[in-house]
Formats: sequence, structure tokens, C-alpha cells
Amino acid sequence: MRYYQWNSKRNEKIQIGKIICLARTYKKHAKEMSVNIPIDPLIFLKPTSSIIFSGGSIIYPPQSHCLNHEVELGIIIGVDGKNISKEHVWEHIEGYCIGLDITARDIQTNAKKNGLPWTIAKGFDTFAPISEMIGKELIKDPHNVNLLLKVNGEIRQHDNTSNMVWTIPELISYISSIMALEKGDLILTGTPSGVNEIKKGDILEATMDSYCSLHVDVI
Ligand code: MG
Repeated sequence: MRYYQWNSKRNEKIQIGKIICLARTYKKHAKEMSVNIPIDPLIFLKPTSSIIFSGGSIIYPPQSHCLNHEVELGIIIGVDGKNISKEHVWEHIEGYCIGLDITARDIQTNAKKNGLPWTIAKGFDTFAPISEMIGKELIKDPHNVNLLLKVNGEIRQHDNTSNMVWTIPELISYISSIMALEKGDLILTGTPSGVNEIKKGDILEATMDSYCSLHVDVI
């Protein structure tokens, strides 16, 4: 079992639930992947066993020869809900984090080509590093935060959540029309452009303005 680490004075232990990931939520990233923005948000799941925290290491799996980083805004659900209307979405959010949706790009490309699911490409252990959690009351506007990722000190991804194709209420309302959202569930909202390769020995540092940060390496 894994529990969120809070940056604030909260001491409530919240167990991490399912991880729902969005894809193609930033136009520039869809363009760099040569794919179109879908009509409805594109979702997939990662196992909870892929979570690691700041200070941890991404383990390069022997089955892949091309790992990519994807920096993303994470949303943590605090109140269970099903068919949540857009107006009520905010009541269901507990907080936010910055996360990485690590992807075995070679395995994913092969899966796409053959019409197979992305579970393997996205689901290896350590493929979901996340920062400490920030209570929602501390974030002025989650639709206007800067996501920054440096690899070995060099900026790889830098964008603002205002450039997301869908709003947070639209995303959560849509997801909850398919699967119930439960306390502790994590939504990774998709990556902006600049995705690139990571190699063994790399140091990754991700920040969401001055709210939270994440430091991991690749082994
Ligand atoms: Mg992603």
C-alpha cells in the first residue's frame, strides 16, 4: 500500500488509489507525436505499483530501449463521486502534485501499430514518480501553473496548464461518467510538448511553480 506525502501540516493518511492518465491534452504535444486531438479525452490506467516519490529511482526495464519523460499536473481525489457534474468537480478534489508519466516509447509505438493496449508501455514499476501533495486551498489557479522539467540541469519541458485542451472540470466530469472516482485516486492530466529520452544515470527535476518539486534519477 502506498500513501500520499503531504507538504503541509495535514497528517491524514490517504492511500493512493487508481491512477488515471490522460493523453493528448496539449496541442503542441499531439503535434510532436503526429497525432490528432481526440474528440473525447483519451484515458488509460497505470498500476499503483508504478508510484515512487521524490528521492526515488526510475528503474530502466530490460524490455525497453527507449524511455521517455512526460511531466504532468496531478490531481488527487478527496471525495468519492460518479457522474460528477462540471460545477461540482472542485468539491471532489483534495489536492495537486507534479508527476512524471514515464513511458517505454518503443513498446508503446509497437502497441499503437498493432492496436494493442498501452499497459506494458506505461505500467512498469517506478513509472509514476510523484511529488509531495499540495492541498487545493494552497493553489490559486490550477489552470495557470507552470510545469517545468529539467534533465541533468537542462530544461526539457516548460509549459503552463492554461494550454490544456480541456479544463479540469471537463476532464473529471468525463472520467467519472465512465468510472467512479474514489478518495485517493490520482489523475495525471497529460503532458505538454518536449517529451524526450531519458537514460541510465540521468537526474530529473520537476517543479510546479514554487508549490512542489520532484527529484528522481534513472538506474
Ligand atoms: Mg502522459
